[in-house]
Amino acid sequence: MKTVVTVVGARPQFIKVAPVSRALRLTGGVNEVLVHTGQHFDFNMSDVFFAELEIDPPDHLLQVGGGGHGAMTGSMMQKLEPLLQELAPDAVLVYGDTNSTLAGALVAAKLHVPVVHVEAGLRSFNRAMPEEINRLMTDHLASILFTSTDVATENLMREGISRESVHQVGDVMFDSALLFAERAKARNALLVELALEPGRFVLATVHRAENTDDPERLRALVGGLEQVAAELPVILPLHPRTRNALARAGLSFERVRTVEPLGYLDMVALESQAAAIATDSGGVQKEAFFYRVPCVTLRDETEWVELVELGWNRLAPPRDGGVAEAVLSAIGTQGTDAAPYGSGNAAGAIAEVLAG
Ligand code: UDP
Repeated sequence: MKTVVTVVGARPQFIKVAPVSRALRLTGGVNEVLVHTGQHFDFNMSDVFFAELEIDPPDHLLQVGGGGHGAMTGSMMQKLEPLLQELAPDAVLVYGDTNSTLAGALVAAKLHVPVVHVEAGLRSFNRAMPEEINRLMTDHLASILFTSTDVATENLMREGISRESVHQVGDVMFDSALLFAERAKARNALLVELALEPGRFVLATVHRAENTDDPERLRALVGGLEQVAAELPVILPLHPRTRNALARAGLSFERVRTVEPLGYLDMVALESQAAAIATDSGGVQKEAFFYRVPCVTLRDETEWVELVELGWNRLAPPRDGGVAEAVLSAIGTQGTDAAPYGSGNAAGAIAEVLAG
């Protein structure tokens, strides 16, 4: 039996962990120990995902919430090091590009424990993003790298990472989407409660630091989404970081309807029935495509470039008043059909490699 310690801490990681933990369990050859750093700790940013996606409760809770990047990553490392020494795992499994990812990878690499990175090779080529730093470092510390797309694999090859370490398995979020599709379809309560007509509303999410921490961009975003909301309902589940940033900047929404962060099933119910999605989230861009809903990415660049090439996604950096026009003109458009994220069995492929 092999022991794999999985380190997670932020919302998108819970969604990625769900299918992989299941697949690892099914192999019968891997004992997974789940460590939650506490990076996200509110009920609706954490617990709800464990409940809805049937993830076993974490074996270890590090309770490192808040603080700046240095303090947060540092205290995660401080708590992870003795734990990994005690558990002496065969590998440490990390996901995506958060501070929890980097902390897990750094501590493991220094203890000579092989690092496994799921969703490796993504690049925005914008080092002003904390996520870009986290993923670059993690990829170069990892011994086994699982990529979602051709582009991600090519990025790693260009950076000199050895071909044998890289396994292109597809995207685990696509696995989650398929796994929970039926349950999400049955979830109509929120649409009814919000009096939304399928295909007659826009779903928006905003949480990237480059948007929330820049008052000018935040103002342009609020203005753009308000303009859209003059035409049709806009629903915005408000990330805690964005809520704080709006208060700091003295900004608020009038027409846009903000709600608390949603559980995964409610979120998918809204995504799949929206007329368009406007987002700066990485995961939500992909999910828009899974449900074939046109997407506008509220950033200067995206890591998921294939969606722009296929015509399902377009960039609308929040400045110069282009947001509303981009969102309104995306409605009703369709891209080319393709399967850039694999067949929905990325988790099975990951488990096979790790058990082998
Ligand atoms: N999500 C959710 N509720 C929300 C907003 C997002 O369940 O209110 C889900 C979304 O469906 C996707 C994931 O969270 O699966 C994306 O996470 P996030 O946008 O926080 O991070 P990113 O993908 O940008 O790293």
